[in-house]
Amino acid sequence: MRYSEMFLPTEREVPSDAEVISHQLMIRAGMIRKLTSGIYSYLPLGYRVIRKVEQIIREEMNRAGAEEVYLPMVQPRELWEESGRWTLYGKELLRFKDRHDRESCLGPTHEEVITDLVRHEIKTYRQLPRILYQIQTKFRDEIRPRFGVMRCREFSMKDAYSFDAGEDGVDISYRKMFDAYNRIFTRCGLKFRPVEADTGSIGGSFSHEFMVIADSGEDSIVFCSACDYAANLEKAEVSVPEKGDHQEDVFLPFEEIITPNVKRIEELCSFLHVTPEDIIKTLIYEADDIPVAVLVRGDDEVNEIKVKNYLGCNSLTMATEDMIYDVTGAPRGFAGAVGIKAKIIADYSLMNRTNFVMGANKKDYHIKNVNVGRDFDVNAFADLRIARNTDLCIRCRGALKFARGIEVGHVFKLGEKYSRAMNATYLDQNGKEQFMVMGCYGIGIGRTVAASIEQNHDGNGIIWPLPIAPYHVMITPVNVKDESVRRASESLYFDLSEKNIEVILDERDERAGVKFMDADLVGIPLRVTIGSKKLSRETVEVKIRKSGEVIDVSLEGIVNFITRFIREDV
Ligand code: ATP
Ligand code: MG
Repeated sequence: MRYSEMFLPTEREVPSDAEVISHQLMIRAGMIRKLTSGIYSYLPLGYRVIRKVEQIIREEMNRAGAEEVYLPMVQPRELWEESGRWTLYGKELLRFKDRHDRESCLGPTHEEVITDLVRHEIKTYRQLPRILYQIQTKFRDEIRPRFGVMRCREFSMKDAYSFDAGEDGVDISYRKMFDAYNRIFTRCGLKFRPVEADTGSIGGSFSHEFMVIADSGEDSIVFCSACDYAANLEKAEVSVPEKGDHQEDVFLPFEEIITPNVKRIEELCSFLHVTPEDIIKTLIYEADDIPVAVLVRGDDEVNEIKVKNYLGCNSLTMATEDMIYDVTGAPRGFAGAVGIKAKIIADYSLMNRTNFVMGANKKDYHIKNVNVGRDFDVNAFADLRIARNTDLCIRCRGALKFARGIEVGHVFKLGEKYSRAMNATYLDQNGKEQFMVMGCYGIGIGRTVAASIEQNHDGNGIIWPLPIAPYHVMITPVNVKDESVRRASESLYFDLSEKNIEVILDERDERAGVKFMDADLVGIPLRVTIGSKKLSRETVEVKIRKSGEVIDVSLEGIVNFITRFIREDV
């Protein structure tokens, strides 16, 4: 393309609402523009990158034996009623009525639609396994859209679904997708890591997220320094403390203490001369309308996902002031387990420990030397807290490390969740009806592009990995008014285009400095600068965006140099 004919509005200013670097650079490099909250248009440069990522995904999906389909975005309520998600999905599901008053939603994901399609067409084990995928728009009415296309409301996803006869089959399909994801993200030039993950509203028995390691990531990941265990912090399991991890065997006398104006854990520690490990925090939750008290140590945080999974409830929210009053008899901030009118579950770290401090269920009071068994009973001990850096790996007891990550892909083994709910069956070899065993596999296309920018940029702009670069080469004539410079530039532009090399000719009548800044900002891997001085010696200058290296190449050898660079880098 000729630069002057391109719709490429670059900007020098950092947009004020863009917090993360990828969002800033996607705006500045003229890749995206915001229409309204969480909804973006892709401009030509941005869309070229999207298409490159899609192409890599298509190649790897097809290679793994998946077939491409295209499913509707508008989905009828009845299907979502069948899976039970019409009510369970929450406010991210955008529901609406058509002119006949029929209710539908905009698909945030496509398990229902694909299961409906497959249950009508597949009847016997001979038609299995099947892996179908699509690249299509999703809508999720995210509560806090942010970071540009990283967390938006309308976005494009590659979603694949596998259908198998039996557990062994789904394990093979899962592996195929898992391996394909590794190849896709490697080809996109990302540094990433698959981690064990929670299954969330999609459901199923286990899953992995593909995390791009980046400080700006919204997810925390935990990985072992000794073995290959890695998990989302939401999921990271914590081992049961070994016996002997306790303070004293003697139960000291129970005491009630007035603690006026003591609110935070630190204040309580200094007031009572104790450490946070001596304190039990009692948090009251509402689990499907039922109050549950969750106990963790003063220095720990409740992992609500673990609590939700442990209770098997559909919704888990912090209890309202009214509910807290009902179960404790006191306002928020003074809850304790003694005498509370709620089911009590306690984190494993409270086992085998004695003489705790906790809220007294009475305004401005705490109690000291509280003991499980003597002063209150718990319904169960379980793994309910967020892992901390002193925890050891549950597999090998190695030291744990923490990092931030951006979830770009997610693979789930769904099992029979949807096939049972929606009656998707097949006849097995013995003519017996069985539920299909499913898996589902998603990649956020725009988020993958943004994550790549998070990992590949410098102070001047984006540094595209070659396989997803919007163009390979930018030709920058220093002075377009110089006839020999103009001619050499046009001729190189022609030669590269002939070889199907994706090239921009910046023939704008602008200062060289402006052109260089734009080339760096939009991150084209190679810049060929053509100036009269070097041209008189039959040479041009090549700058490699990634390394910053500047090389003089003869006019005669330049096409070869570029072809070789592109071939070797891919
Ligand atoms: P998150 O935890 O970030 O909200 P999710 O777990 O709900 O994501 P999945 O249902 O696993 O997302 O969707 C598959 C992929 O779709 C994600 O791995 C991510 O790349 C992408 N994705 C999900 N939500 C968004 C969003 N709001 N904006 C852009 N991409 C998204
Ligand atoms: Mg996910």
